[in-house]
Amino acid sequence: MALDADAVIIGASAAGLATAACLKQTGRSFEILEATEVVGNTWRHHYDRLHLHTPKSGSALPGLKMPREWPRYPARDQVVDYLQHYRARHGSAPATTRRSPGSSVAREPGSPPAGPVSGARATS
Ligand SMILES: Cc1cc2nc3c(=O)[nH]c(=O)nc-3n(C[C@H](O)[C@H](O)[C@H](O)COP(=O)(O)OP(=O)(O)OC[C@H]3O[C@@H](n4cnc5c(N)ncnc54)[C@H](O)[C@@H]3O)c2cc1C
Repeated sequence: MALDADAVIIGASAAGLATAACLKQTGRSFEILEATEVVGNTWRHHYDRLHLHTPKSGSALPGLKMPREWPRYPARDQVVDYLQHYRARHGSAPATTRRSPGSSVAREPGSPPAGPVSGARATS
């Protein structure tokens, strides 16, 4: 399958969604490949009583604080809600989720590298 995008992101969880939001901010195109039908797949399978061990102030993704009324250490389900909301808030993050367990990604011979991303701002 050929993808026509500046960047390919594997995984629609915290890292993938944050990367997508930053790429979008700089006008780069991207495709997110996610092995499941949901965002935050990993978090959905952690044990029920899990809470973040990092404070919400340092756990939020670029551009979206966690709600003021949430506890300092949000619960697992809140993290899942936050990731879903983050995806919705950034619209195209991810624009596409595709089933791709165990897939690999390679640049087509002769295609130019996208180059470094600069100018991404983390705002909250
Ligand atoms: C019990 C536990 C508690 C944690 N608590 C904290 C905490 O309090 N604070 C903190 O900062 N971090 C914590 N972490 C670490 C946490 O997992 C990461 O911060 C965060 O989830 C990493 O996000 P990620 O997007 O890199 O990876 P993940 O959240 O693991 O997401 C990876 C995504 O990639 C997808 N994927 C994997 N392989 C493929 C493939 N081949 N093709 C397509 N999609 C694929 C998966 O389905 C998944 O959606 C904890 C981890 C664990 C296990």
